[in-house]
Amino acid sequence: MLYTKPVTTTEMFKKAYDGGYAIGAFNVNNMEIVQGITEAAKEVNAPLILQVSKGARAYANHTYLIKLVEAAIIETGLPIALHLDHGDSFELCKSCIDGGFTSVMIDASSKPFEENIAITKQVVEYAHDHGVVVEAELGALAGIEDEVQVAAEDSHYTRPEEVEEFVAKTGCDSLAIAIGTSHGAYKFTAAQCTRNEKGELVPPPLRFDILEDVSKRLPGFPIVLHGSSSVPQEYVKMVNENGGKMPDAVGIPEAELREAARMAVCKINIDSDLRLAMTGTIRKFFHDHPEKFDPREYLKPARANIKELVKHKLVDVLGCAGKA
Ligand SMILES: [Zn+2]
Repeated sequence: MLYTKPVTTTEMFKKAYDGGYAIGAFNVNNMEIVQGITEAAKEVNAPLILQVSKGARAYANHTYLIKLVEAAIIETGLPIALHLDHGDSFELCKSCIDGGFTSVMIDASSKPFEENIAITKQVVEYAHDHGVVVEAELGALAGIEDEVQVAAEDSHYTRPEEVEEFVAKTGCDSLAIAIGTSHGAYKFTAAQCTRNEKGELVPPPLRFDILEDVSKRLPGFPIVLHGSSSVPQEYVKMVNENGGKMPDAVGIPEAELREAARMAVCKINIDSDLRLAMTGTIRKFFHDHPEKFDPREYLKPARANIKELVKHKLVDVLGCAGKA
């Protein structure tokens, strides 16, 4: 079937859960990124989630983003969900629901448990009345901004004993949990990592025990992983060799993401990797061709490399190729 409008994630999550794979949720904020991602998905026939953060919406404008995603659906005919990433208020979620999104995240994970439940429930009620699904979050992703050395301590992870009550009381459709992934290109400090024989940083392993505990308590329920870029070292190198400065950027090993996708994780968020591919490619182009000034000439290889990267993720990491 050829799709012409964004779909919700209900059907794709059900199939992903049963099939032991995950849907890629890629952040978009301009045309070349939308094209790179969706052309890759088209080639391997994968379902997709295109997600927009509050910042992307402020950058590109709601209407432009909606129309870009609609254009991609018409061009590819794929099942694509349009999702709000990290909605921080009922009003923002409502505005996206009213404006054509098919899925929203309400992230009240920094609030106390009861408050998180109350605001999530409010979003769920409005969303469900409008045929839109809701992702919520429990636990706080440890980020590099954590100056405290105990960033990897259990207090940052999702507490499995809270998830049943949270899902029952809020009615949310999927749940983002914290098991050791983190946002950005600098997911771990060098002190948190070990080094392999090549001298590359190796991050601490994900807490699969927490994921397993959560999924036992919520059988069949879709789990979401944020902050799941693997920070490809080839692109970090490309950035650094062409005038950039990104020392010790390190991500989540792809083998761990593949393992999570086989388990209850149905949605894996990837943003930094696309940024790196785009920036590395453009930096190299500028270095190699200082005389060029036509944006199409440097955006074209950037888009092509985003496409290759996304194809690799869909086929080798998420396992969702052929599942559209
Ligand atoms: Zn996130």
